Amino acid sequence: VTFEQLDLSSEILRAVIDEGYINPTPIQAQVIPPILAGKDVMASAQTGTGKTAGFTLPLLHHLQAHASSSTSPARHPVRALIMAPTRELAMQIDESVRKYGKYLALRTTVVFGGVNIEPQITELRNGVEILVATPGRLLDLVEHKAVNFSKTEILVLDEADRMLDMGFLPDIKKVMALLPSQRQSLMFSATFSDEIRKLADGLLKHPVRIEV
Ligand code: AMP
Repeated sequence: VTFEQLDLSSEILRAVIDEGYINPTPIQAQVIPPILAGKDVMASAQTGTGKTAGFTLPLLHHLQAHASSSTSPARHPVRALIMAPTRELAMQIDESVRKYGKYLALRTTVVFGGVNIEPQITELRNGVEILVATPGRLLDLVEHKAVNFSKTEILVLDEADRMLDMGFLPDIKKVMALLPSQRQSLMFSATFSDEIRKLADGLLKHPVRIEV
């Protein structure tokens, strides 16, 4: 499979080519088509396999396909929420979103704990379409009424097993309860315990299961 065969927009393809990527990695070849088709996906993937681009490229494609034309903050509700266990991973995902989305006019921000919350509140109130977050800080921001999920179309849980290991399950559940039920959900995890399967059952609708 080539990137051209995956039906991504020309702006996204151009950004991928700028990175020097020649072909999709195995996980990308498997997850990009069902995500583009709007399906929920549960994928087992380790870091280093290219999983970040695997969910970021089709996510950007969806948001681009239904772009909002206004520049007013109220017109920039969170459309995609990506949750990750650690600040480091959240920052890496944010960097990937910016890299692959550089030819698109989508606003992205990353939030995590251990730093002042005020600038994050300001940034969210200014409007972002793609929010990358660690669960604890995300919930703090929700409690500050800084985030509105009424227009959230896509949810990604990255390294779900690590999030559970770190005790984020209650936070994840609280956030999930705020999301529209009409949405696309994607879950990535290196391992699949009973706990992960239970979370997936509550989160995903008829998921396509992918193992690489
Ligand atoms: P990840 O597993 O998402 O953290 O990605 C691991 C590394 O692989 C990152 O440095 C990416 O820039 C790189 N990468 C992702 N997709 C491709 C690809 N299709 N071809 C070559 N490198 C890639």
